[in-house]
Amino acid sequence: MGNLDLNKHVTAISPSLTLGITQRANELKNKGVNVFSFAAGEPDCDTPQHIKDAAVKALAGGKTKYTATDGLIELRQAIVAKLQKDNGLTYKPSQIVVSNGAKHSLLNTFLAILNDGDEVIIPSPFWLSYPEMIKIAGGKSVFLKGRAGNDYKITPDEFQKAITPRTKAIVINSPSNPTGVIYTRKELEGLAAVAVKNGVYVISDEIYEKLVYEGQEHVSIGSLSKEILDLTITINGFSKVYSMTGWRLGYLGAPAKVADAISALQSHGTSGPNTFAQYGALEALKGPQGCVEEMRLEFDKRRLYIYNRLNAMKGVKCIKPMGAFYVFCDISSFKLDSITFSEKLLVQEGVAVVPGVSFDADEFIRFSYACSMDNITGGLDKFEKFVKSL
Ligand code: PMP
Ligand code: GLU
Repeated sequence: MGNLDLNKHVTAISPSLTLGITQRANELKNKGVNVFSFAAGEPDCDTPQHIKDAAVKALAGGKTKYTATDGLIELRQAIVAKLQKDNGLTYKPSQIVVSNGAKHSLLNTFLAILNDGDEVIIPSPFWLSYPEMIKIAGGKSVFLKGRAGNDYKITPDEFQKAITPRTKAIVINSPSNPTGVIYTRKELEGLAAVAVKNGVYVISDEIYEKLVYEGQEHVSIGSLSKEILDLTITINGFSKVYSMTGWRLGYLGAPAKVADAISALQSHGTSGPNTFAQYGALEALKGPQGCVEEMRLEFDKRRLYIYNRLNAMKGVKCIKPMGAFYVFCDISSFKLDSITFSEKLLVQEGVAVVPGVSFDADEFIRFSYACSMDNITGGLDKFEKFVKSL
């Protein structure tokens, strides 16, 4: 009787495993189990005080009404200035849409540009939410494996070969979650040339742009030429750089046609992002930036410690991360798939990691080092004991 079927796109997706494992680790902790969690990519420090103060002041001062659907004009102006100064990207405020996290900006983008069956090329390994978002929007993901010999990055040639008449976009995530690798300017120039030649949108997820190490340069692909800027949707946010994950604020810069469509979509979906949170974000961009460098230096210390220790363990081979806050480790020598490996590790030693299969790499596991040094040292002792037992 009736039609109680659920939506076919939504029923095709699986819940986020990065968030699921984190939740499971927290549940175990609440039950009194000693858990070392390397699961979620979430900075362990609090949001800097001056940012929290600005949001509290806005709330106390009555900033409690809707803003423009695509975000406060002052915030969009500050984002325009930031993108120009830090990234060499030229946008007008009308090309910026502020949303409820970079995740939301990405979902909005896929919904706005994809028609049923349109293909999106995703270099693999990839962050697990991209294909699920593409499914929601009715698109089709085309996975393009980066070769180990090329640091798991794709080349312009490989990109060109993956293009079909249905190709609508490619996702570039540099620095990458989960591998931590960074595309160089030259590599991006090559990919940009292919996108321009074929008329393919580039969705450039730059959420980890400030977390780069050993003097590496983060390059925004949209800054390379006017032609590529006209095809690029630049995604960024406040979660990682300012430790504002719970604030749920991200943003994008896009060609006018795309930004207008996303703005209309958002006007019906959420009406816009939280008002007083946006005042905090404004302070994040306009206030002192010392907190960003402080955090980066702290992550850098943890990165070297965790990478050196893991890599010294017999049978474990890690990609040296140059950006973001993850170490991706090859555990194939243990002859276990990544889910079995991670499950055994959690049950036997109380160490939570994310199985690589979620990122299209079943021979790997992912450690986030956005957690405390105590968690890292204690968790690695347990991990070492575990791998020795295999
Ligand atoms: N992109 C990547 C690559 C991520 O790892 C994350 C993780 N949260 C996001 C986007 C989304 O961030 P948020 O929604 O918290 O802004
Ligand atoms: N992006 C982070 C991660 O990969 C946070 C969780 C999520 O949003 O997936 O762990």
